Amino acid sequence: MSNLTPLMKQFWDIKSVHQDKILLFRMGDFFEMFFDDAVKAAPVLGIALTQRNKKSQDETPMCGVPHHSIAGPINKLLAAGFKIAICDQLEDPKLAKGIVKRGVTRVLTPGMVYDSDTLDGTKPHYLVSLDSESLSFLDTTTGEAFFFRSKKTTELLRFLQILPVAEIVIAKEDESLLTGVDGVLISHHEDIADLLHPLLKNEAPMSAARLVSYVGNMSGEESLATISPFVMRDLEHRLEISSTTLRHLEVFSTYKGEGLGSLFHAINRTQTSAGSRLLRQWLSFPLRDLNAIEQRLNSVEFWRNHVLELKRVRQILGQMGDIERRLGKISQPQCNGRDLLALAGSVHAGISALEVLVHATGGKANFEGLRELAYKIERTLVEDPPLATKQGYLIRTGVSPELDELIELSTNAQAMVSRMEAEEKEKTGISSLKIRYNNVFGYYIEITNSHKDKAPAHYQRKQTLTNAERYCTDELIELERKVLSANTKRADLEFEFFEALRKEILAQCPGLLALAHECSEVDVVASLAWLSLEEKYVRPKFSADGSLKMKASRHPVVEQTVKKNFVANDLELRQHSCLLLTGPNMAGKSTFMRQVALNAILAQMGSFVPCDEAEMPIFDAIFTRIGASDQLSEGLSTFMVEMTETSAMLKNATKDSLVILDEVGRGTSTFDGMCLAQSILEHLLSDVKALTFFATHYHELTSLDQSFGQITNAHMTVAERNGEIRFLHTLVKGPALKSYGVQVAELAGLPATVTKRAKSLLRDIESKRVQASSQLSLLDSLTAEDPYIEAVEVVDPETARRGETMKSLMEELQKF
Ligand code: ADP
Repeated sequence: MSNLTPLMKQFWDIKSVHQDKILLFRMGDFFEMFFDDAVKAAPVLGIALTQRNKKSQDETPMCGVPHHSIAGPINKLLAAGFKIAICDQLEDPKLAKGIVKRGVTRVLTPGMVYDSDTLDGTKPHYLVSLDSESLSFLDTTTGEAFFFRSKKTTELLRFLQILPVAEIVIAKEDESLLTGVDGVLISHHEDIADLLHPLLKNEAPMSAARLVSYVGNMSGEESLATISPFVMRDLEHRLEISSTTLRHLEVFSTYKGEGLGSLFHAINRTQTSAGSRLLRQWLSFPLRDLNAIEQRLNSVEFWRNHVLELKRVRQILGQMGDIERRLGKISQPQCNGRDLLALAGSVHAGISALEVLVHATGGKANFEGLRELAYKIERTLVEDPPLATKQGYLIRTGVSPELDELIELSTNAQAMVSRMEAEEKEKTGISSLKIRYNNVFGYYIEITNSHKDKAPAHYQRKQTLTNAERYCTDELIELERKVLSANTKRADLEFEFFEALRKEILAQCPGLLALAHECSEVDVVASLAWLSLEEKYVRPKFSADGSLKMKASRHPVVEQTVKKNFVANDLELRQHSCLLLTGPNMAGKSTFMRQVALNAILAQMGSFVPCDEAEMPIFDAIFTRIGASDQLSEGLSTFMVEMTETSAMLKNATKDSLVILDEVGRGTSTFDGMCLAQSILEHLLSDVKALTFFATHYHELTSLDQSFGQITNAHMTVAERNGEIRFLHTLVKGPALKSYGVQVAELAGLPATVTKRAKSLLRDIESKRVQASSQLSLLDSLTAEDPYIEAVEVVDPETARRGETMKSLMEELQKF
């Protein structure tokens, strides 16, 4: 350490306190990283790794990023899971005696964000903490803060899978609670905030106190200014949907992990990012309380009945920015004048949007105080302020007499420089003479070489260039002093006004957030009304007797892709009953069952549903066991996944649940699979008594309706003409008569030799079957591999679905 340069000594002093973070060390116009930090960061940032001083054989690895465009690199490092300490220069290098004073001004971790503009606006960004009796969430970019209480850790852990978590903060002693959680950054933090902290006023638990302490420690108390007090979310009032079911039903993303094609994407007609975050929340937490659901439905209906106002409010919301995230930025010192003006614009739009509602309902608006704040921001800042906040030119004249004077002086000083330039041109007779300014010399007179012999004697030479000479004069030095001091004073004073305005905004945070929340709610409800009008949805009714009735029900996502070609279906089921679906692949079984579940989720979150008429029970939970096409290709383990999920379903489902099983048992041999499928179904019917949808290839199960009156056999119709088939996607009662496996395989482009051979095998077995059918028991028939089933199994459904041949054939068939 002794032979370190003073700069490196300073570096190590700071680095030793932040060993677990990448230290961004400000040097001039760059933030530099050294040693291991540089080695780790360079590939993430895609920048070159260099050496500190090539000539002196100093092999210190280093890399750097320009200070003015630091947001992108910081976000990349955070996304890669690194923590960051930003070490800034704490004094003006020009004024520093010896080495510039430096210190860490901010610490960032993946759960916090430097610049929320680069985040997906439709998603929250949660910092989470867990202990043995609670789970808390905090989004520092929007100020949202809430917690769940439960002594059952498994119950809490579910929410880690459902909600987007960026970082988990936990005390060392609680870490064992996190078994089975992976893929998220875990940070240890032992301290907790004082339980009397204003953010913890609603009897928030320890895990919330830990988050408050963590954020306060890392980014400073000021960054807590925009956080709302923690509120409790009730576990009981949610329609229970596991993360697996959310995935199976493609609620937030498809199997391929894409947003496009998900339910959320299909129904999201919100106009603001905050609105889409709230919609996402509603969709993650559908309700179970009839009154709460009806209240939301009433609001949706209200907008449907006021179409003119609906259009108007959506148009206004479309111009509203993101108050929550903007406030998050404003709580950080690096925010600029444009952030404040953007906020003012959003406040105006937000209040106007609420006024539309107030006019229509005859209620009362109560955000006038914020309108005043918005006007003040606009009266204070110039129209298009610079990004820098410490160099002046951002406050309007008329804000303060003292500032006006300085502005005039600094503006006049510019005029005085121009005047002096004209005078010197006149006196010397050099028309090309110029007075210029740079950071090194300040003001100087420049004369090109061809005129330099005309320079008067009192011009003091400062610098010689190849084609010009630079001079200064006493008069110019005096002028420079005046200009600079006016400019500096002006810049300092402007920054003071800017900071005062920023503090004033932050002091009004609760009101601003309340406005933002009200607008998000209007946005979501209005968007659901818009959706229901555009897509012809109806208001669902809730049955008291547990029965389910749907007239012309549609799949909300598939319908939007196939448009008019979607075949709507009717359905009526009694309480505790089961729809047993058979029939070939591609007939639409899976689509139909998912659409029932999606309709239930939509209804319970307070949305209208894609039906002509709908009446359903309020479910306590939805369970699904649906083989994903991509999971099928994973081979053996698929069966394990299938059985684990089925087991969770059988244990947790109740008589008030909706249960969907799609081809359970297909992961093992036909014989095993059939037996399992039957016993699972029997258990569901006799013990669980949930409303059950069961799709299967095992036609033998259809005879179970003899012993279980709750079973309604049904299938999706298929039309056959000259050996060619066409899927009608119409649900009809009764078991399917044929599998059409070979025909489906043909459609998928299986070579003709293969399908021909399959057909002839089929004919053989069929004739044998007919002869032997009188003696054959149900299970015996399965010991011989069932050709119906096998032919269908040959086709990889993924390939079939993607295949172009298939697609064009299907299109032709649709017209058929
Ligand atoms: P299965 O589960 O019987 O194998 P799917 O539900 O996967 O069949 O449906 C197969 C294809 O048919 C899907 O690509 C889907 O888009 C289309 N489809 C399903 N149901 C309908 C319907 N009611 N109207 C129009 N197309 C449908």
